[in-house]
Parts: sequence; structure tokens; C-alpha cells
Amino acid sequence: MSKENNNNTVVTRFAPSPTGSLHVGGARTALFNFLYARGQGGKFILRIEDTDKERSKKEFEQDILTGMKWLGLSYDEIYKQSERTEIYKLYIQKLIDKKHAYISKEEAKKESDKNEVIRFKNPNGVIVFADKIRGEVTFNTTELGDFVIAKDLETPLYHLAVVIDDFEMGITHIIRGEDHISNTPRQILIQEALGAPRPIYAHIPLILAPDRTKLSKRRGAIPMNEYGKMGYLPQSMINFLALIGWNPGNDKEIFSIDELIKIFSLEKIQKGGAIFNAEKLDWMNKQYLATISQDKLFTEIKKYLPQIILSLPQYTDERLKKIIPMFQEKINKFSDVKKMAEEKELHYFFEQPTYDKQKLLWKNNPNFQSTKIHIDKVIKLLSNVNENNFTQNTIKEAIWNYAETAGKGVVLWPMRFALSGRDKSPNPFFLAEVFGKTETLKRLMIASDFLP
Ligand code: GLU
Repeated sequence: MSKENNNNTVVTRFAPSPTGSLHVGGARTALFNFLYARGQGGKFILRIEDTDKERSKKEFEQDILTGMKWLGLSYDEIYKQSERTEIYKLYIQKLIDKKHAYISKEEAKKESDKNEVIRFKNPNGVIVFADKIRGEVTFNTTELGDFVIAKDLETPLYHLAVVIDDFEMGITHIIRGEDHISNTPRQILIQEALGAPRPIYAHIPLILAPDRTKLSKRRGAIPMNEYGKMGYLPQSMINFLALIGWNPGNDKEIFSIDELIKIFSLEKIQKGGAIFNAEKLDWMNKQYLATISQDKLFTEIKKYLPQIILSLPQYTDERLKKIIPMFQEKINKFSDVKKMAEEKELHYFFEQPTYDKQKLLWKNNPNFQSTKIHIDKVIKLLSNVNENNFTQNTIKEAIWNYAETAGKGVVLWPMRFALSGRDKSPNPFFLAEVFGKTETLKRLMIASDFLP
């Protein structure tokens, strides 16, 4: 009745319980299973472990599927334990028939409770297994007693369902969180009773916060899909997750998923030191932002821009495209665009800024008259630049001599302020190119007229 794996194909599985969203821990387990299976030319199975009817929720199952899809972790087969009752029933009956399990009368805690369960007949031996990461693990199973494996013929508990499914699905490698290591002896006992082959175990280190405490919501334990909504790129999340508890044995840090498939190995998973570092994720994402196409950047950035920016009088897609290099420099993830908008770092790109004329004065030159002279001179110099070749280079070339002679601060500060109205902004040459000749001259003239 089993589908034993008779050839040497590697089969791995990710077996989440839909009792919560897909978080970094689960996503990394899924990734390691995926990478190993793909790297070995094997099969990767997704198994939804929804035997706990009360705690399993459809919305979490959906969240897991969406998260896997976002990460690009494709699977070859998918199963749901709630749809496999008939299979479990056969195995439970077989265990009872072979005297590996028995129906046990229990004292009912509540009136409504059934007072029967199915217990495993524990042979009370010592289990030794070789874990790929932890080495040899020895466990005396006597203390486990005759543990419960099913509520009734149709309701297996976690350990039993896992063992039956791993057997039925021909799982060759069980790669899962270290928190499952204490479950392994029970599962091996059941396997042996069923005559199932023992898979290879690899228990991966739990993910900790940088101070080695448990991950909390504030420290990265947010659902995968939230990262998606925050505008992280899935390829940087994959790269980031791969390096939590695994490394290729050298300093290289940027890997595409295809490269990871080629080089991933269970041997290089570390025993400890799986640290979640949110700054590293930001850094990683920024590296990827530098590599993606201008079209994709434009679409994503626009998606995150609040309506208030899109409805400013000078908003055009063309101008937004011109400021993409600034975003690439300033943002770590797309939602930072929204933050910049909220902090009013974007308005001036699409409307004439308003400001106090005092602000046009360079700190070492608190003099309206000479400031006006400098602005007028810049206007004059820029008027001579060809409108069709109004680039950072040509703009800089036109002004540079004058700025060097008169003083860069006194010339460039008011120019930049006239264009942006902000204490902090990109340099005036970049701004002038973004605005084009007409708008640049207009903003400079407004500033000049402003001064007495
Ligand atoms: N369903 C279990 C969990 O979500 C995983 C079982 C396993 O990987 O063996 O923790």
C-alpha cells in the first residue's frame, strides 16, 4: 500500500501547519527543501498539515500559498492532510492488527469527551539517528511511554500523519527546524513499526534575533506577504533567507536562485548562528534595486506613490522616470517611496516649492543683494545652454567657472534651494536636468523676484 521510493530520486517536502502565516522561519525551511530537491534533480512537495481542525484556518493556508508563489518556490505536488483520512485509516488499522497500537480506554476529562484513544505500543528502545547537521543523536524512548497516535481510526495525530505521509510520498530527506528534533524519535518508532525506510534528517538551526533572543514581531517575525507589500523584491528575500544558517564557504553574498540551486548543500548548513538581521535584508534589497530594469522600477515606484503626489500640477510620468536614479540611491524598498512622499521629500519635483526667502541665503553670505546677483548670473548662464541638451554635464559646464570664482556655496546653494525649496535635496545639476530648461529658469526667476 505504500509508494516506496525505489529509485534514488531525492524527494523533499515543506509541511507547514496552516495555523499561522508564512514567516521567515517557515519560508527558509521551504527554501532549503526547494533548493536541495532542485539541485539534486529531485522532487519538492508541499504538504498542508491541517489535521488540527480547530487551529487550522483557510486564510493561513492561502497566505502560505501566496507566500510560496511570491518567493517563486514552485512545488511538484501538493497535498492536504485533511483530504487523506482514508489513507490514515488503513495504516491505523494495520498498526492495530499488527499489535503496534491499541485502543486505550481513558478517563474522560469532560462529559462530552470520547473516552477512547489509540496508543502506540512503545518497544521502549534506544533510538540513534544520524542528523546531517547535528551529527549522531541518541534518545532513550522509554520515557515516552505508550504515546497517543490517533484520537480514533479517522483522526491521526501529528506524529502519525507525518510518518505515514513521508512514507507514502517517498520522502528521502526531512529538512526542518531544529524544534522538531525531539519529535524525531517518536516518528522513527512509528516508521519502524510500519516497516518504512528511514529518511535522512537535517534539522536546521532556529532563526534568532541579532542579540540571540527569539525573533519577535518587532524584529523581523513578520509574515512573508507583508515583506511583499512593503516592496521588497522576492529575489532579495530568497538571497537573504538562503544565508540564514547556510553559507557557501566564501565571502560571496549575492546569489540568484539558480546559482543557489547549483551550490546549495546540506553539509554547509551551520549548527548555530542563524541570525535574522533586518538591516542586511535592506542592504540586500538595495543591491537588487540597482540591477532591475528602469521600466520595472518606474512601475513599482509609481505604484507606491500616494495619490497626492500623482495629482500635483507638474506630475508627469516622464519626470518621474527622470528621478528614478535618486530613488535607487535613497530607498531600500519600494514602500520607502511612500515615506519620502509623507516627509515632503517629493512634492517639489512636481510643483513650484514655497519657502521663506531667508532660506535662499547661503550660511556664509547672509546678503540678499549678492544672492540675487548670483541667481541672475546663473539664469543668464543657463539661458545659453541648448534646451535639447540640458543635461547635468552641460549645466555644470555652464556654471562651474563662475561658481569656482564667486564661491560654490554662494552660487550653488541658492540655485539648489530655488529649485527644491528644501534644506536637503539632490544636487542642483541633477535637479535642473530633471526640470528641463524652461522649468529651471522659471524657478530661478521666481527666486530672484522674491529677493529685494
Ligand atoms: N507541520 C509541522 C510544523 O508546521 C512540520 C512537520 C515536519 O516538518 O515534520 O511545524
